[in-house]
Amino acid sequence: MLMMITVDCRDVESIKHDLLVYVSDQVGAVPALKNHEFVLSSFNDDDQIDKMEVITSIKEFLDSIGESRNFAIIPRSDLIIIKSLNGSSLDGEQRAPARMFSCSHCGFVTQYEVEHNNHMKTHYL
Ligand SMILES: [Zn+2]
Repeated sequence: MLMMITVDCRDVESIKHDLLVYVSDQVGAVPALKNHEFVLSSFNDDDQIDKMEVITSIKEFLDSIGESRNFAIIPRSDLIIIKSLNGSSLDGEQRAPARMFSCSHCGFVTQYEVEHNNHMKTHYL
């Protein structure tokens, strides 16, 4: 149990703020946003921070945005590092586009396979 925990968000800059709000709410800690990290402090001496709880909350948040498999959560003594596993980071830059389906007849583009299939049918009516 700790009075203060730092979460390194270097690889998840674009979600840092939402993550901070979620985690501090789950854990019941006072959040402070820093440059590439945020700090969670306990409200008082009797109410220390459970590191496992913080890690679980970070996992839940990453799960909720479908990114948990892309990041490792590495606990150090009073530091938790969120590390990108595949080099891609949520740093606020444009994300890779979702898979797109395009019609070979007219070039109609959609990201939904079902919509693509329905569209293709219209060419064969
Ligand atoms: Zn078409």
